[in-house]
Amino acid sequence: MTHRMLRRPLAILAAVMLCGCTLSQAAPTAVPTATTFQPEIALGSPVPTLARYDASSAVTSTPDSAGAQAAQSTAPAADEATPDGSDATLGAMICGADDDAPSTAHTVSATIDYGERTVEARHLVRHFNRTATAYSDLVFNIEPNYWLNAFQLDGVSGAATYGLTGRRLTVQLAEPLEPGCAVQIEMTYRMTIPPLGAGAASFRGYFSSGDRQINLGHWLPTLALRVSDAWITREAFFAGEQNVLDIADWDVTLTLTNADGVIVAAPGDVEDLGDGRYHGTLRRARDYSISLSDQFVVAEQESVTGVQVALYTLGDTEIQTADGPVDGAHHALAMATRSLELFTERFGPYPYDRFVVVQGDFPDGMEFSGLVFVSSTWFERYTGKPDGYLTLITVHEVVHQWWYARVGSDAALSPWLDEALSTYSEHIFLEQFYPNLTDWWWQFRVEDYAPTGFVDSTVYEFTTIREYINAVYLNGVRMLGQLRRDLGDAAFFDLLARYAATYDGQVVGSTAFWSLMSPEQAEATRQTRQQFLRRP
Ligand SMILES: [Zn+2]
Repeated sequence: MTHRMLRRPLAILAAVMLCGCTLSQAAPTAVPTATTFQPEIALGSPVPTLARYDASSAVTSTPDSAGAQAAQSTAPAADEATPDGSDATLGAMICGADDDAPSTAHTVSATIDYGERTVEARHLVRHFNRTATAYSDLVFNIEPNYWLNAFQLDGVSGAATYGLTGRRLTVQLAEPLEPGCAVQIEMTYRMTIPPLGAGAASFRGYFSSGDRQINLGHWLPTLALRVSDAWITREAFFAGEQNVLDIADWDVTLTLTNADGVIVAAPGDVEDLGDGRYHGTLRRARDYSISLSDQFVVAEQESVTGVQVALYTLGDTEIQTADGPVDGAHHALAMATRSLELFTERFGPYPYDRFVVVQGDFPDGMEFSGLVFVSSTWFERYTGKPDGYLTLITVHEVVHQWWYARVGSDAALSPWLDEALSTYSEHIFLEQFYPNLTDWWWQFRVEDYAPTGFVDSTVYEFTTIREYINAVYLNGVRMLGQLRRDLGDAAFFDLLARYAATYDGQVVGSTAFWSLMSPEQAEATRQTRQQFLRRP
């Protein structure tokens, strides 16, 4: 494989000293959020809440022990303040012309000290009220506040008051935001990026600093989704994800300091401004996530659909086997490109000109808009043959561009919508490119785990990550396989394509999926739904 820099060179800069600080990874307790979204979902048991724990206990924690802390503990004190409001345009209502842009636009200027593992940001948010009713507050998801001492809010300009409790920041506006009007507020905040955690916390390595990489996934505040006059936020939990993300436009200027030789992997359009500064834009995206390393090796390939696929690996992807050296980077880039092409054909267009795959020093993989991580472990275990997790997880993360980035869902309450579909899409990929591996896939990926559990479970119903994956992902693909037999291939693939097209840019629940079936299809799939779903 030849490594070459991107046509739009992405990064370069400064020193490398690992922060010796020990930080913890644990969930603060957020106030449970009342919501009218997906009213069909009723939790079977009280939602367990993680208490914060310190770094020394994190080292020895396991997914099970961390997740088993079910006691409700006291919510951290709200960080209340009244800002100075020095910029007159902040907080003022601007009423008038609407356009077809997302109702929220983020303009971020962030300075990242690579050596110190810190971030300082000014973050302007413009939000347009496209609903029929006025509201007086804005609620933001502050995902970094999942970790103890990782996030420090310095102020919110343009707000009457604001309060940060757990991962939920409530900004009270000076006057109600009327329908057809927009308001701007500006947050200033700092982060200390936590080190990669152990046990269950390691799965959140998409927001972590490690020996050779800083990952900034879900690092920027996002405006919560507003449904039926309520802001939707979900309680933190050790298993799965708890994001419910609306689409927004992102304009992010990065300044890297203390970052000699560091390369930035970022989605969408990225412009090198020189002197360690970069300007990135990503339209209609659920998040804006990046990764930085001074060890990145970059390879690129253009898909037949004209998308520039860029792979950022950590320079250790060549593996010696009995048959000679094999290169996981070459394989991952090929799998990413082929799957992007296949799923574009099956499920509709991929929305950006670039797609970025990053080797991540944390388990499994993780999806973001226009950028995904695939674990270093899967590169290390690559044998030169396609029957392994490097293939499966690369394909899985790619197809989340449809089942997450395009069609959004409630990651806490209906995780099967993106996870079962993404896992089943691995099978669709193998059928197309490696048809002799489909039997292997069912055994290796699914049946070896003898999965049980309701597919439409919420994340809060599990005590281990394994149980969660078995029910939602693996029993989920069993259900989808059976639905396909019930409906026939043509109708099944038509259902998936219509799901992708109908709800593009939205956030949906289970009902949205099932409502796409005709009455005849609903009848044909009734037994399958009764077998796998709590709410068939
Ligand atoms: Zn997934």
